Amino acid sequence: MAEQSIGRGLEMEVQFLKGVGPKSAMILAKLGLKTVEDVLWYLPRRYDDRSNLPQLVMLRPGEAQSVRGRVRGVTTRRISGGRVIIQAVLDDGSGQVTLTWFNQPWVARELQRIEGEVMAYGTVKEGRSRQLEIASPEWEAVDEEDESGDFARIVPVYGLSEGVPQKTVRRAAASAIQYFADQVEDPLPEEFRRANRLVPLGAALRQMHAPESAAHLEKARHRLVYEEFLYLQLVLQMRRMEVQQEIGISFPLGEIGRRDMRMGGGLFEDGGVDARSLEEQALAMLPFELTGAQRRVVGEIWADMERGFPMNRLVQGDVGSGKTAVAACAMLGAVRCGYQAAMMAPTEILAEQHWMNLRRLFEPLGVSVGLLVGKLGAKDKRKALEKTASGAAQITVGTHALISEGVEFAKLGFVVIDEQHRFGVMQRLSLRQKGVDNPDVLVMTATPIPRTLTMSLYGDLDLSVIDELPPGRKAIKTHWKKPWDREKVYETVRRLVAEGRQAYFVCPMITESDKMQTQAAEDLHYRLTHETFPDLKVGLLHGQMKSAEKEAVMDQFRRGELDVLVSTVVIEVGVDVPNASVMVIEDANRFGLSQLHQLRGRVGRGEHQSYCILIADATTGDAEERLKVLEETTDGFRIAEADLKIRGPGDVMGTRQSGMLEFKVADLISDGPVLEQARQGAIAILAEDANLSLPANRLMLEQVRKRRSDEAMISVS
Ligand code: ADP
Ligand code: MG
Repeated sequence: MAEQSIGRGLEMEVQFLKGVGPKSAMILAKLGLKTVEDVLWYLPRRYDDRSNLPQLVMLRPGEAQSVRGRVRGVTTRRISGGRVIIQAVLDDGSGQVTLTWFNQPWVARELQRIEGEVMAYGTVKEGRSRQLEIASPEWEAVDEEDESGDFARIVPVYGLSEGVPQKTVRRAAASAIQYFADQVEDPLPEEFRRANRLVPLGAALRQMHAPESAAHLEKARHRLVYEEFLYLQLVLQMRRMEVQQEIGISFPLGEIGRRDMRMGGGLFEDGGVDARSLEEQALAMLPFELTGAQRRVVGEIWADMERGFPMNRLVQGDVGSGKTAVAACAMLGAVRCGYQAAMMAPTEILAEQHWMNLRRLFEPLGVSVGLLVGKLGAKDKRKALEKTASGAAQITVGTHALISEGVEFAKLGFVVIDEQHRFGVMQRLSLRQKGVDNPDVLVMTATPIPRTLTMSLYGDLDLSVIDELPPGRKAIKTHWKKPWDREKVYETVRRLVAEGRQAYFVCPMITESDKMQTQAAEDLHYRLTHETFPDLKVGLLHGQMKSAEKEAVMDQFRRGELDVLVSTVVIEVGVDVPNASVMVIEDANRFGLSQLHQLRGRVGRGEHQSYCILIADATTGDAEERLKVLEETTDGFRIAEADLKIRGPGDVMGTRQSGMLEFKVADLISDGPVLEQARQGAIAILAEDANLSLPANRLMLEQVRKRRSDEAMISVS
């Protein structure tokens, strides 16, 4: 009962709030604020620190500042193109600053009506004739009675829409806080809050709307950020625990070599038993020694495979760190235990490359590797499908064609998803569903995903990191060149080709359209073949070519029959030709940071010194920043962090997955450390109450349920 009346309290309509009334309620409705609870959660967009207002004579250009003074004279000027400039001079007795607005004639009318002082906020610049100026400031009339004597305070500034005065929102928030903050129920149990030094929710909301000091505000914000991250982490950790309760396959890897595990007869050339241990077999299969990091990760995967619950593991390793070899060792284990394995890649070119590489490794062992991609001819496709369905193909490599309807496996026990960041969460799950029982799932991705994003998106997976590159790699040298330096770049390429190396040219990305891309690649190909390198063999690769053509060109390039390969971004991920040692990216300013890092990862894969040359004109600040970051570092983690800062999480992950990353208060970029704390918090809570079934955890459970259903909606849309 008590609970209900509290509920009713917060659900009370705003018009009944003291100091609001029906007229203000109508205004607040424009912001979607209907109940007291809505108002409590309508958090300020920023704060004006009025305890620290500069005298105008002390004002300096460069920073965003709050200023206060009287308006002296408002002018309205019409300039070319019908535009209107409004200027007002603000004066506080010590000095002046000019406020400027464009095309907002009503501002002039409102300013002229104000008798008292005005507050404005914006970036201070030095204008013409050296007077200080703030363009398009936020502003409001100072309401003497609202201030009721306390000048020295931090004032909340709310996001507004047309016809909603700042004052109205402030008043409603102040009243909501005064009368209802104590009624807010805290979903986090007191003990947990104390252990993690989190202020109660009601107090946090009070400080958000009416901060006593910057320190109080910081604590309040921390509490809200923590809570948001906590729910996300609870969802992920619970999902992880659910998987661990399922029954999976326990691959008897330790027994390999001591048992005859023929599947459908004749696993091995001689049809007999390989007496060596799995590890010996894996090492014999690979043409190189594994690095320490690869060896460790393979060990982690094999240990998972032997366990009774399904594996769900993410392997993260920078471009060129050798993820394919790790996957091959894992698949070998599955095959040797009589199961099929499947590997899904995001592009056909990459799937074909994996297919060829895996065939080279596995066919000598008598293990057959099939290929399943969308563009196979009807006959080949039927054959491929038959082979997976009968079990004749022990390993199948493919694109998302693998998860389409009609694809069946005889005994799929192991699934690898390469370059997971190109797929959605749902695609990961669907390949899993093709298996017998619950196959083990290995997800591989290159860093350009910052740690904070990994933790938020893949927090339900166990994580392995390949933090070491194969030996003998020389750091790629990256140079940013201007278009007028092109001739010199071409000379460098010619010299490297003369030494026996090969080169990639990536053509400018003009639009998202495949057709335009193709056109650009064809143009560049024409120019290079006829003008620049008439004596070299120059190939062409783009997205609109038929599969067989693409395959043929890639083959030629791999065999060294082409010196130069002109390509669109279809070669962005995964492509591996160690003899290629130079990559020229035309109009590099048009690509994103992580895309450039991936492209660059196509070179530096062998023992040769490799180069990446970015041809770009200095354009926007952003583009310049990206190119400089690339020149400075090849560290995927650092690039990822920079990318996140420049673009924000939504763009980094693509819109489909960003819904999961929408937070009211939290900011994935600046609040990363809190995310880790919240993860630990979630683990601690679930250790005591795995299903959140204790009464003290009831409100947390509600939040978790809500998130899960929101997420399901995002995933299907
Ligand atoms: P990525 O992690 O980007 O998928 P790949 O699996 O394509 O990397 O491997 C990159 C290159 O390094 C390939 O040519 C591969 O054969 C080679 N490679 C992988 N592991 C090793 C190793 N331990 N020693 C030497 N070369 C290796
Ligand atoms: Mg790869």
